[in-house]
Amino acid sequence: MAKVRLDDLVKRFDDIVAVDGVSLEIPDESFTVLVGPSGCGKTTTLRLIAGLERASDGTIKIGDEVVNDQRAYERDIAMVFQNYALYPHKTVRGNMRFGLEQQGADEETIQERVEDAANLLQIDELLDRKPAELSGGQQQRVALGRAIVRNPDVFLMDEPLSNLDAKLRVQMRAELNKLHDKLSTTTVYVTHDQVEAMTLGDQIAVMNDGKVQQVGPPTFVYSNPRNMFVADFLGSPSMNFLEGTVHRTDDGYAIDLGAFEHEVPDEFEWALEGAVGDDVVLGVRPEDVTLRPDGLPATVNVVEPQGEKTVLELGLGNETTMKASVEPGGPIQVDDRVSVEFDRRSLHYFDAASGESLT
Ligand code: ATP
Repeated sequence: MAKVRLDDLVKRFDDIVAVDGVSLEIPDESFTVLVGPSGCGKTTTLRLIAGLERASDGTIKIGDEVVNDQRAYERDIAMVFQNYALYPHKTVRGNMRFGLEQQGADEETIQERVEDAANLLQIDELLDRKPAELSGGQQQRVALGRAIVRNPDVFLMDEPLSNLDAKLRVQMRAELNKLHDKLSTTTVYVTHDQVEAMTLGDQIAVMNDGKVQQVGPPTFVYSNPRNMFVADFLGSPSMNFLEGTVHRTDDGYAIDLGAFEHEVPDEFEWALEGAVGDDVVLGVRPEDVTLRPDGLPATVNVVEPQGEKTVLELGLGNETTMKASVEPGGPIQVDDRVSVEFDRRSLHYFDAASGESLT
């Protein structure tokens, strides 16, 4: 097993800076997810760790060793790709054996490892089939099996579930969790899917524009986003952002949000102290907007039942809209007049100019 450490890692492709000074500690035995929108540099970061790209600058350490100058095959890693990359003419057994044969492992070790991995992944019955005779989910298991038999220090996985249908993806997510519980191999996993990141990672690194925006346990990052990018990226529907200017009141601070005035709760006053006269953004997650009597008056513009919850789009005043997640099956209809309240404990405040959190 091994930890992985990236220091000021940079990768340029001509004038494109794909990875722009990434520093990240991936603890031994962790399941770390690199998550971010398309083009943010997560795949390139993974390929740098794998040795499939050469760093323009910075260092990559696996264990205590700087591996910048090592080729991919010299690094003790196994990679699982989105398209599985199985050899079509080899059987499942042949695919799983191949890496070990290349390493010169003896026949007994090869057989034992292939059988153990096939057992773990429940693909024993499929060992004599060719990839074309397998479903997508089964092919993905074989790709995982091929990585597992090598017993590497680090697994690198690039969107391995994205070619599976929604139901199978959820099932494989649970299996990857179980697999990691059993093997505890340090894993770096790339996805653009925030739900996958939240459910799989014990640590997530949210990336944008080639940079790591925030690193931490998923629920911590979700509850304490460092900036508006992270706040917006994690959560579905996204956090509501309402912009206004801070002013003093007789007993604290308030923000003039146009449609209404937001009185800053006592517990957040410290955050707004230095911001009088500044434009700030109030962030409220849809699940923290509740329908209560004596709140702010709002009109229901859209009702979107999503099964486990119903998402409402609410109009407050002429120009302000926000989303609320409410219990499904309620009596709410379009054009209803309702009254809303925000959960005071879960508010977020950001500097409007920099997007950085004030809390
Ligand atoms: P996606 O989820 O779409 O795969 P990503 O976050 O993994 O995106 P990367 O694939 O790492 O992003 O790409 C980061 C940036 O680097 C993009 O602007 C991409 O076009 C560019 N890039 C990646 N590989 C190369 C390459 N071989 N040559 C030139 N530019 C590249």
